[in-house]
Amino acid sequence: MVEKQRLIDIDDVQRRLSVEQVAGLYGFALPADFGSSGEQRMPCPCKECSGSGDDKSVSINVSDDVKRWKCHREGYGCGAQGRLVMLAYCMKHGMMPPGGKLTGDAFWETARELEALVEGKPIQDSPAPPGRDNVRDNVRSVVEKQANVPLAESDNENARSLVSLDEKLVTTLDDLSPAASAYARRRPSLLSEQVTGEVRTGFMPGREKSSLRNNWVYGVMNRDGQPLAWVGRNVKYEDDHQEWITKGRHGREPNKYRFPNEKLFRRSLELYGQEWLDDPRFEKSLQEHGLLLVEGFSDRIRLHELGVMSVAMMSNKLTDPQTELLIGYAREKGGNRVGIMHDADAKGDEGAKETLWRLHQADVEGYLVWSGKKFGGQYADRQPDSLTNEEWEELAIHCSPR
Ligand SMILES: [Zn+2]
Repeated sequence: MVEKQRLIDIDDVQRRLSVEQVAGLYGFALPADFGSSGEQRMPCPCKECSGSGDDKSVSINVSDDVKRWKCHREGYGCGAQGRLVMLAYCMKHGMMPPGGKLTGDAFWETARELEALVEGKPIQDSPAPPGRDNVRDNVRSVVEKQANVPLAESDNENARSLVSLDEKLVTTLDDLSPAASAYARRRPSLLSEQVTGEVRTGFMPGREKSSLRNNWVYGVMNRDGQPLAWVGRNVKYEDDHQEWITKGRHGREPNKYRFPNEKLFRRSLELYGQEWLDDPRFEKSLQEHGLLLVEGFSDRIRLHELGVMSVAMMSNKLTDPQTELLIGYAREKGGNRVGIMHDADAKGDEGAKETLWRLHQADVEGYLVWSGKKFGGQYADRQPDSLTNEEWEELAIHCSPR
């Protein structure tokens, strides 16, 4: 039996199904107290996520027509998120689809199974999927593929008004809240007025109307230096998170970062700091060390201060589009070399292995700047934003071609 030219109205299917029905279909255990309205919590459906055993990892709005959900593990979330159809895929496969997008055959198969569930039919072996055009979806994947638009050119009036948001940011100690001051003291580059002005970062004071108030704000630019997004870092995250754990992990797990809505900005498509690739001051660094890759904003900013060219993933794992971008930048500006400098802890080392593999597969020379164990474990559990000048000088010796 071959189905032809058939539409699945995936939004209707998602509206009609409950999370319990979908979990039942794939044998996924929901928490005993999982409710039937509003925001609920459940374990992450991705087996590799540290939140797969924790009932509070994923928030899901079960009253929402499409049941949007997101994993909040680690500071950034593990990346798993989407609508009910994506949740179904993850429950079935124990992971997000390759590239994080549910398209083509994978989408079709999942949508069919959910449709059968609505109709109370047993699931049959998948017939050949119809042409992609016949599946009335996938708004989300289309959104994901779209390049980020500079704020100045956005259709969204609010977004356009944010072009010079950094004019409201402050960096002098007197202007910082106690938590912001503590955050910046642990990352001294953030107290250098010259550096913060250049890279357009600073603290959004509590008196401002901005949704980023009381956050440390980082500006993500395109290659030409046009702002694409402003990202907030909760300066009280460590305290908030500790309190949340102390109180038995009830309520919403605090977020470390505040990224704009995915419709407005897709961080998976950008590498933070890319606007500096063509700056002459980094030519020497690019020649000597290639392009360095780090995880976070403040890591890149510390290397920037040291005159070392790096880009940051804004996460602890490269996405597919970021991998392509990194490979292109390495070939163009880095002499085909990338110095991998994830955080020197267990999670960072895991990510670094994946990054090395991705680069080597593309014949880019990826080398390990440090790791938890390299140099006798000297840098274990360190992040690049805490590097001293002397430490970098020492590391740099190992970052030049031998
Ligand atoms: Zn997760």
